[in-house]
Amino acid sequence: MTLKPGTKRRTGRNGSIRIKVLPKDPLLARTRNLWPVEATIECATVGDGPTSARVAIVDYNADLDTRFTPARLLADRSGFVGIAGLKNERILDNFNFHHVNVWAIIEQVLTVLEDDTALGRPVPWASGLGRLLVLPHAGYDDNAFYDRDTGALHFCYFEGPDGKPVHTCLSHDIVAHELGHTVLDGLKPGYNEVSSPETAGFHEYFGDAIAMLASLKNREIAKLVTTGAPALLSAKNVVSAIASEFGAAIHGLAKQDYLRGAWNKRKMSDLRGTYEEHGWSEILTGVYYDLLQYLYIRNLKEVSRAAGGKKRDQQQAIQALFRAADQTANVMLRAIDYCPPVDLRYDEYARALLRADEVAYPDDSYGIRSELKRIFRRRGLKPMQEDRRVRRDIVHALREAKTSKRSPPRRPTPIGSSTNSASSSRFPSTPTSPLFPSITPRSAREAATGRPKSG
Ligand SMILES: [Zn+2]
Repeated sequence: MTLKPGTKRRTGRNGSIRIKVLPKDPLLARTRNLWPVEATIECATVGDGPTSARVAIVDYNADLDTRFTPARLLADRSGFVGIAGLKNERILDNFNFHHVNVWAIIEQVLTVLEDDTALGRPVPWASGLGRLLVLPHAGYDDNAFYDRDTGALHFCYFEGPDGKPVHTCLSHDIVAHELGHTVLDGLKPGYNEVSSPETAGFHEYFGDAIAMLASLKNREIAKLVTTGAPALLSAKNVVSAIASEFGAAIHGLAKQDYLRGAWNKRKMSDLRGTYEEHGWSEILTGVYYDLLQYLYIRNLKEVSRAAGGKKRDQQQAIQALFRAADQTANVMLRAIDYCPPVDLRYDEYARALLRADEVAYPDDSYGIRSELKRIFRRRGLKPMQEDRRVRRDIVHALREAKTSKRSPPRRPTPIGSSTNSASSSRFPSTPTSPLFPSITPRSAREAATGRPKSG
């Protein structure tokens, strides 16, 4: 991954370190020539493992009860032992490369997320531990998952259709997705509880959004997406088709070579009455891609105009795409701080998106809010609709007050207000749906479903 010029980096006393990072996954390395590329990582206190201030790679395999040899720093601390000279297939088989690759992806994504233009602060780990633990070969399973209790990301491996192992730790999308779960749990720990399919779906959306955001920082990927300097982004491409190798392995390459697609047209009415969070996530992943598409088209016109109207070329397209990626990520991430602390519903997130953007840019000169409103209409999202649950709770509280002669409650304050808190009546005292008989931690729930947790 090559960070764009101008992106701020966290720096440390050890300076920079040169390593190779796999841009997507082994399938796309072989089919789209996306082999590991050189990258510079700058962060504090890098050590063997790798271990850094926020992340520790611990290659313990629970199935085998074995801990594999960690990657060792070179004496001059400029890289890791035994990796630099390896190429293509050989590097993909090297466990020390797996360690360094997964660590580098996490460090780079954190740098982007914590930048002043995005979240603007270090993300806390909900586990309470100082470092996020990462197990690159946690065991045999077609799975990867975040677990708050152990404070760890577990990346498993399984046998692919060709008999070769599929290592989930080698998928840039899966690593970024699982880190997305971790980051969201640090920011909004209440969302780790399955209070509704929308809250669970939001967790999955957030992971996929982080995967797309991370892909869109890579110049090699941007080149593939903008080949021929298209006037609009293709529906399916190496960014919008998420987790290619994993999807191909579980679906069959000929049938579906990705896990989820951001170019989908799913809307709220398609999901009503269903409770599968990955299905729900696609609505918001689609919103993300719709906004990216709008901003790419707009930026490309602007860049072409600035170039004096000369024929559109790929450099202009890459510039437009990078700018659109940053704008989209910032709009979608900034809204997190305008969302309620628990039980998030999609209409509330839509409202938060509009409000957060309005606070940052009151004049809407890019037309982002106008476009978001169009996207919301197509997807069946109603950000301005009064929250029916709140209204129902108010009616109930008023009746209670009438019978008990207590004073009536004050109207709940709008989202974004500092007085909006978890103490509002968002959680019914008893679950409303028999499908959610109790609030279950994410890790336990995902383990129980047997579904691919990486997805
Ligand atoms: Zn997930």
